[in-house]
Amino acid sequence: MNLAEITAHEAGDLLRRREISAAELTDAVLQQIDRSESTIHAYITRTPDEARRQAAEIDRRFAAGEDLPALAGIPIALKDNLSTKGIRTTCASKILDGYVPPYDATAVERLRAAGAVILGKTNLDEFAMGSSTEFSAFYPTANPWDPSLVPGGSSGGSAAAVAANEATVALGSDTGGSIRLPASFCGVVGLKPTYGRVSRYGLVAFGSSLDQIGPLTRDVTDAAIVLSAIAGRDPRDSTSLDWPVQDYRQSLISEVKGLRVGVPNEYFVEGMDPMVAEAIRRAIAKIAELGANVDETSLPNTRYALAAYYVVAPAEASSNLARYDGVKYGLRVDGSDVWEMFNRTREVGFGAEVKRRIMVGTYTLSAGYYEAYYVQAMKARTLIKQDFDRAFERFDVLAVPTAPTVAFPLGARIEDPVAMYLTDVCTVTVNAAGLPGLVVPCALVRGLPVGLQLLGAPGSEDTLLRIGYAFEQSGDWKATRLT
Ligand code: GLN
Repeated sequence: MNLAEITAHEAGDLLRRREISAAELTDAVLQQIDRSESTIHAYITRTPDEARRQAAEIDRRFAAGEDLPALAGIPIALKDNLSTKGIRTTCASKILDGYVPPYDATAVERLRAAGAVILGKTNLDEFAMGSSTEFSAFYPTANPWDPSLVPGGSSGGSAAAVAANEATVALGSDTGGSIRLPASFCGVVGLKPTYGRVSRYGLVAFGSSLDQIGPLTRDVTDAAIVLSAIAGRDPRDSTSLDWPVQDYRQSLISEVKGLRVGVPNEYFVEGMDPMVAEAIRRAIAKIAELGANVDETSLPNTRYALAAYYVVAPAEASSNLARYDGVKYGLRVDGSDVWEMFNRTREVGFGAEVKRRIMVGTYTLSAGYYEAYYVQAMKARTLIKQDFDRAFERFDVLAVPTAPTVAFPLGARIEDPVAMYLTDVCTVTVNAAGLPGLVVPCALVRGLPVGLQLLGAPGSEDTLLRIGYAFEQSGDWKATRLT
């Protein structure tokens, strides 16, 4: 058995039976990183010594008979926009050069408290702005299924690490699809929780009304375990929800009889790869076969979602990124006065896509254009939310594609911002409405993974995980998993 390939819950069982040690598990994953990292480039920063030390500590605690949480001894990779005390946090940007956070993000703090073993920080599009991980200031990450393809983005490093067995589980962040798109492209499970389910404290802000942290894992059970560990109210994030945290593993019953599943036709967009559409339809047919009541539906305002997202997200980004001025963090390029220093630092420190977002965002918020763009986009956002509210009166879950295509070649969309933005057409809606979305691998199309996306009302992670689990158990998707 290659310990780098197993899931967190399989590893947890073996650890508790004392059949393996956390040290062996961590070593197996570190060896896999050494083998494949030169092709995959999933990581920006690796912390192998610290990982070995944490694993040894967990082994000591198991040996002392302690009853440890489910993630104890499990090797985890963290997207490099999550603040990690003592470990540099780059957001894949030059502007944070040399920045080492003095504190952990709440999600990281909770993982550490649960005994997870931190392997390092994964690659992303700069400040999580992108859909391919090519906008990293370091290097692009390759898709483990075919290194000439993108892994999706912006959490491409986390998804690729899990798919390539370079981490047992990982955390990503999702502002407009950044967990779900790479999950689909890399053939792993990705969960974007309800807005507020997981504290954003210590997640470097991109679009504060959209951002959420969530897991990327090899199966649904692991997603449930990671979510249970990181979810819950945090006084340091006033938008975090004061809802009780469940043990999401309890919702994993392989039973969907009577669940009402809606299929909104707007998600089968024009120009979609017909084989991807067919794969999604087949997955939905399987869910019907399992006993769910499947019906077509319509969410007419979906058509405004992409345009609204690409106004709201840059608007929030332009204000969130104002703090990088050469004074407080990382890079400083000196000038003859303070204004020149600001300008030079931002000119050198930010990449082209981040600059584009700042310019678009500043424009749409400026006096004279605010009403025409930002206010219109916020109205569209309300309409999108109302569509969902109506749909969830009739349905428990909506089943849709994650993206119009499978993973595309490195370089294919990098010169064409609109083509890149169109990648997100099926994912931005749930961020606009604050809903949870779960992606589960459902098929291979021309040898590449496709993820089915399940959407639910706020707080319905348990239902999404249950239907995702039932789907996963029903098929032989695992047999086609990349190993
Ligand atoms: N691709 C989208 C964007 O570029 C979403 C990114 C994300 O979810 N962080 O904004």
